[in-house]
Amino acid sequence: MIKFLDLQKINAQYASDLKSIASDVIGSGWFLLGDKVKLFEENLATFINSKQVIACANGLDALRLILRSYIEIGVMQEGDEIIVPANTYIASILAITDNKLVPVLVEPDLNTYNIDISKIENHVTPKTRAIMVVHLYGRVCWSYELERIAKNHNLKIIEDNAQAIGAMWEGRRTGSLGDAAGFSFYPGKNLGALGDSGAVATSDPEVAHIVRAIGNYGSVIKYENSYMGLNSRMDEIQAAFLSLKLKYLDKENEIRRRIASFYVSNIHNPNVILPNCPDDNSHVWHLFVVRTSKRNELQIYLTENGVQTLIHYPIPPHKQKCYQNLNQIELPITEKIHNEVLSLPISPVMTIEEIERIVVLLNNWK
Ligand SMILES: *Cc1c(COP(=O)(O)O)cnc(C)c1O
Repeated sequence: MIKFLDLQKINAQYASDLKSIASDVIGSGWFLLGDKVKLFEENLATFINSKQVIACANGLDALRLILRSYIEIGVMQEGDEIIVPANTYIASILAITDNKLVPVLVEPDLNTYNIDISKIENHVTPKTRAIMVVHLYGRVCWSYELERIAKNHNLKIIEDNAQAIGAMWEGRRTGSLGDAAGFSFYPGKNLGALGDSGAVATSDPEVAHIVRAIGNYGSVIKYENSYMGLNSRMDEIQAAFLSLKLKYLDKENEIRRRIASFYVSNIHNPNVILPNCPDDNSHVWHLFVVRTSKRNELQIYLTENGVQTLIHYPIPPHKQKCYQNLNQIELPITEKIHNEVLSLPISPVMTIEEIERIVVLLNNWK
């Protein structure tokens, strides 16, 4: 069986270092708000060239904390609108509604699966406060046009960088392009912890200050609470694991790029639409997503032939039961994507035999 993502094998590459890090942290007796988190924050800030990084408990919290801090600053208030791609993972939308803000769903571009930037301006109203771009599947979503729209309408740009750590736009890393960015280190992400973790990056010192306080009960000075905060902190042990794995991220992303380009050059099947592969090194291929009108058949065929695949994602946010108020919106491109996409295995620990086998299977599928 070719696994969709072999987390055991991915972490086995670093097992002896991970074990000695774990043993250090256990020996130190210090598990939260310590040197290891501080060091990881510095390492990530250097890596993406951002002024401030604040570690937190997970990627959803990173986005929640960003929006919450804009509310505290007075940039946004309850009922304000945030523009977001309709085909994103539900966490982007949950962060918005959790803050009593309104998600304004915009259709993606079928060539990139990212928000269609040319459709953003039509959705701007006097209540719009931000555009949340999602670098979905590891592909950068950014342009000068996007910057111009945000500037003209005085909107913040928030990056959901959960799937694209390490990606680049014109020599700059995603997560440093907008006003603030959320990162996830969920184990399956390109930089994965051994549990949940996340981070916020921002160049705005006020946002950084408030995010840090709110993630720690709303407190700057212990037992003095300026905000009604939450508890969203990164564990020392996860921070130490992440500082180690961050050193190998560019190398691992490069392997993903090579696999993606191998798939794109070698899979030739008129019934399978391959992802568009940018010729720069911008894409970090968190997922390799193909599209076909016979998606379920293709998934069954691959399973029967020993290849595990996943669907990202089977139900779009606006069709979820928890968002009944959005169920009637018509988003034909988004719905088409959710009906047709299938993610093939892609990871830095796949063997060439596995990759070749997947190519042959795809080419033989009718
Ligand atoms: C994974 C993910 C998140 C949430 O991150 P968690 O760490 O799982 O909370 C948010 N947005 C996108 C696009 C994601 O893929």
